[in-house]
Amino acid sequence: MHEARTIRDVPGAMEFLHLSAKAGQDAALVQGPGGNTSIKQDGILWVKASGTQLADALTADIFLPVRLAPLLQALDRHDPACETSADFVVAGLNPRALRPSIETTLHALLPQRVVVHVHCVETLSWACREDGEARLSERLKGLNWAFVPYARPGLPLSQAMAARLSPVPSVVVLGNHGLVVAGDTVDAAAKLLTDVQRRLRRPEAHAGSANWARLDLVAEATGYQAVADPLVHALALDPFRLQAVAQGSLYPDHVIFLGPAVLTLQPDESLKLLLARNDRPIAPLILVAGAGALLPRTATPSAKAMARCLADVMARLRPGEPLRHLTATDEYALLNWDAEKYRQALSKARA
Ligand SMILES: [Zn+2]
Repeated sequence: MHEARTIRDVPGAMEFLHLSAKAGQDAALVQGPGGNTSIKQDGILWVKASGTQLADALTADIFLPVRLAPLLQALDRHDPACETSADFVVAGLNPRALRPSIETTLHALLPQRVVVHVHCVETLSWACREDGEARLSERLKGLNWAFVPYARPGLPLSQAMAARLSPVPSVVVLGNHGLVVAGDTVDAAAKLLTDVQRRLRRPEAHAGSANWARLDLVAEATGYQAVADPLVHALALDPFRLQAVAQGSLYPDHVIFLGPAVLTLQPDESLKLLLARNDRPIAPLILVAGAGALLPRTATPSAKAMARCLADVMARLRPGEPLRHLTATDEYALLNWDAEKYRQALSKARA
């Protein structure tokens, strides 16, 4: 059998690319450069490239081939090369010199042919709870699933996941991170994704609308502006949401694209004064209590997508739900990891 030279030579590629693009275009599943998919063929793992957009799966070359056996052997010996998986890309079949997704090892570890990893907001609304695993067990009953407590993506997450692969699950919920589904066909993976989303769905609570005049006043001459997406403002309008997000970040891509926190401002506080007093950059996402949300005028599309993601997750949570935030150590590990600096740089380049 001749080796596939592009993903389009892989049997079932069109269905796979359709599923990838559809997931990528759904903001309830994928935000910005987050989320990734893969398909295995003849010992090669075709996986999304780091920093590319899943939504472009049908229109751009965003997949590259990685040799599966040496990658799995390296994972077995905890080889740091698994942090980026770049050493395992098939030489000569990567004309754009892309890097594989930083989550390539998640895909390699699951033996099923098709793997879909998304930052599904329904899943996040459970996976960011202290009691996430117990609540998920009730909803995922009957499915072959596993829960992996939070670990930094890359080698630590791969090792945490490797410890939960017996028996091999077809659904994996990553604590404070997202969802992985796997199937031997594209159709099986797609059906599982729909099923899990349906099981984890929660009603969204509305929190009123922004005070645009107040936001314009606070933002005047600061380089910030009111967020255009009306749904993001709910974060600042509901005291529970405001307090919960002020306590810390809930999942990795928030930290990568919006910084390690949000800044809350009381309506009588001056943003201009605050900026003048700070010699360090402050959080891009600013929540003005009771008024709405601000982002820098220069905010990247990824930052805007992550602000919306946070609003979507929080709209599903109710006062009193016990949340688990990332620790300062978790945030530091994400922000000082070279593989993530690459993804941030691509996001800025695209803005
Ligand atoms: Zn992820």
